[in-house]
Amino acid sequence: MLAAKIPKTNTIKVVEEEIPVPKKGEVLIKMKASALCRSDLHRYHGVAIFDEEDEKSANITPGHEPCGIVEELGEGVTKVKKGDRVAIYLGLGCGTCPECLHGDVMLCKDFACIGFAVNGAHADYMVIPEDNCLLMPESMDYITGALATDVGGTLYTACRKVGLNGTKTVVIIGCGPMGSGGILMAKGFGARVIAIDTDEKRLDMAKELGADYRINPLKEDGTAKVKELTRGLGADAAIVTAGGNIPLNSALNCVRAKGQVALIAESNEAVIDPSNQFVRTLVELKGCWYFNRGDWEEIANFIVDRNIELKKISSHTYPIEKAEEAFPLFDSGATQKVVFVWE
Ligand SMILES: [Zn+2]
Ligand SMILES: [Zn+2]
Repeated sequence: MLAAKIPKTNTIKVVEEEIPVPKKGEVLIKMKASALCRSDLHRYHGVAIFDEEDEKSANITPGHEPCGIVEELGEGVTKVKKGDRVAIYLGLGCGTCPECLHGDVMLCKDFACIGFAVNGAHADYMVIPEDNCLLMPESMDYITGALATDVGGTLYTACRKVGLNGTKTVVIIGCGPMGSGGILMAKGFGARVIAIDTDEKRLDMAKELGADYRINPLKEDGTAKVKELTRGLGADAAIVTAGGNIPLNSALNCVRAKGQVALIAESNEAVIDPSNQFVRTLVELKGCWYFNRGDWEEIANFIVDRNIELKKISSHTYPIEKAEEAFPLFDSGATQKVVFVWE
C-alpha cells in the first residue's frame, strides 16, 4: 500500500509499505478520504506539536481527519463490522481515567494522536482501535465524513459552548478552513454571522458560505463595525480561529457584556486587559479543542439533517500518490481544505 511520510523538514515522500494487521481490539480501515490540517504542517515544518522524537516521527504517517470502510477485524472486535463506513476519532487515551471515560480522550494524561504518535491516515490503509470508529450516517459522503471530524466536531462544539441559536449574533474571527467551518455551523444553529478576515478572497468565501456580514479590519475598524451592527452592544459571541494577539483581543473587544468567546486558534502568548475585557464585563473565555467522542452522533446528525455543506470548504482533492504536490500547495495558504480521496 502507499503511505505519505515526512522524512525530513519540508519533505513529503510517498512510500510503499505492508498493509498493517489489526491486533486485538483493532480494525483495519480502507481509507476513503483524509484531510490535510494545519497541524500536519507543523510536522512538515519540523515543529512537532506533540513532542515526538524526530527519528521516530520520520517514519510515522501523518493524517488525523479521515474516514473509510472497515475492512478487517482484529480479535475480539464487537462494536463495528466489516463494511461499516466510519469516520475516525483522532485521540488515543488510557481508556480508564475520568476524561477517557467521559469521552474527552484528548484530555487524558496519556493522550496520543494518530498521525503524530502512531501511523495516521494519509495512506491506503490504517489500523485503529475499534473505539475510535465513529459510524457515519448513510447519507454522509466521504469528504464530509473526513471534514466532520476535526473541523465539524470542533466547530460544532464551539458553537454549542458559546450558546448559539437563532437569537444570537456571532463574530467569526479568521476565515480559513476552521473559520469557514464555523460559519457553516453557526448558520446551522440559526445565528447571525459576522465574518472577519484580512484576506478578501477568504471573505468572499465567507459570504458564499452564508456569513451575513464581512469585515476586513485592514479597511475599517472591526470592533466599531461590529458595535454598529449590534445596536452598540457588541456581539453575543465570538469564535477565534486565527492565532495571536490581535484576533484574541478583537474577539474580547467585539463581544457584549456577559458575551462568550470560544478560542480555537493555538498560540503561546497574548496580552489582554483583564479589568476591561473580563472583570467589568463578565465576559467568558472558553478553550475549545476537538470534541467529546460521545457527541459524534449528535454532530453527524446535525451535519446531515441541517445540510451543513462542509464539502464546500474542500477546495482541492488529490490521490495519495500526489501527496508530494498536495502538501506544498496546502502550505502556501492558497487553498481551503485539501483532501486525499480514494475512488
Ligand atoms: Zn486537524
Ligand atoms: Zn485516559
